[in-house]
Amino acid sequence: MKNCWLVKQEPSDYSWSDFTRDRGTSWTGVRNYTARNNLRRMNKGDEVLFYHSGEEKAAVGIARVAKTAYPDPTAREGDWSAVDLVPINALSRAVTLRQIKAEPRLKNIALVRQSRLSVMPLSAADGQRPAFCYHRARRSRSTFRLVQSDQCAEICSRMSSLAATQYLPVVATGSATQDFLVVSVHDVAPSTRPIITQIMVELARQGVRSCSLLVVPDYHRQGPSMQDRQFVAWLRELETAGHEIVIHGYFHERSRRGDESLFEKFVTQIYTNGEGEFYDLRYGEALRRIKTAREEFWTNGLKPRGFVAPAWLLSPEAERAAHDAEMEYTTRLRTVLDLRSRETFAARSIVYSVRNSWRRATSLLWNAALARVLAQNPLLRVSIHPADYSHPIVWRQIVDLIKTANGSRTVTTYQDWIGQQRVRRAA
Ligand SMILES: [Zn+2]
Repeated sequence: MKNCWLVKQEPSDYSWSDFTRDRGTSWTGVRNYTARNNLRRMNKGDEVLFYHSGEEKAAVGIARVAKTAYPDPTAREGDWSAVDLVPINALSRAVTLRQIKAEPRLKNIALVRQSRLSVMPLSAADGQRPAFCYHRARRSRSTFRLVQSDQCAEICSRMSSLAATQYLPVVATGSATQDFLVVSVHDVAPSTRPIITQIMVELARQGVRSCSLLVVPDYHRQGPSMQDRQFVAWLRELETAGHEIVIHGYFHERSRRGDESLFEKFVTQIYTNGEGEFYDLRYGEALRRIKTAREEFWTNGLKPRGFVAPAWLLSPEAERAAHDAEMEYTTRLRTVLDLRSRETFAARSIVYSVRNSWRRATSLLWNAALARVLAQNPLLRVSIHPADYSHPIVWRQIVDLIKTANGSRTVTTYQDWIGQQRVRRAA
């Protein structure tokens, strides 16, 4: 039987991102007998929740036991053990100790009872009935669920149970559907916040309660978004409510060069209105901007996992930079790319161009036709820009598209969708 465990780690010593960067590690240095015995009970293939102790106090990722206990090579004396762990995937949302404590059905897990223990079971201990197991539902092939194991059978048969959704790091499918809808809202910044607030109210009315929000760190150099306290507080609320924060460029504008070819001029000025910031940035500068953005977001308690270039114009060098800056995924107009697994998913986004009346007219026709073609695609992407909302005819079509799609698809975010694909592949 597969068991489930939890390991604690101070992120300043060795964080989940260190762990994923290393693609696994030997779990050495455990010097507590109970914790050691737990390491020794781990079987190959067991799943392990990776928990950040210290300030953060939250489970952040899922790992797997790749090698069972062997003598800890770092121990100078004594009888100590280590195991090898490899990452499966990050939790799309960290599960905090506070959330765990707030759940009465989790009051018996060791995390709550023996808070100082560094390696602990989340399931079957010493032949007792398991308190909790971290369960992957068979039928959907898609969900990790933290559930009380004597309820497993019941919960598996009722996919939308409360316990199953409460601690759901990866998306809940809710039904048998394998088709998804991701609505992304672009160009989120302090100056666009009022209109985006309205857009989100309308989306919620259509049943879209989780969006991928593409936030620009310093939109058109109007000033750093992360220094606007109210804006940050608003984003944190949205993240807590189930929306995803994505890094969207840095300035969202491209500095023009003197020696541009006609084609470059066309792409950067006519096609994108000068917003293709990462269209031809060199590796070093792209890396610097993405890392700076990530740092700014993280210090404000936001956890972006995706990077999307303005106008989806991402040069190969900038893509490499996004990967090296430890972003999990990126998207382009026609594809979604898992930057860790390198898997590319074909899924063209519906997006409107509203800058003038002929563009709007063309967009409406094109997207109506495109929506019919995309009805077959397991992932439907709808990308919304603030300006779309000020053109009633455009906005009405977007709402209609979402309404139709929402009937047969599950609404999710990019990060949850990526998580889902990883689980599917690992299954
Ligand atoms: Zn944009």
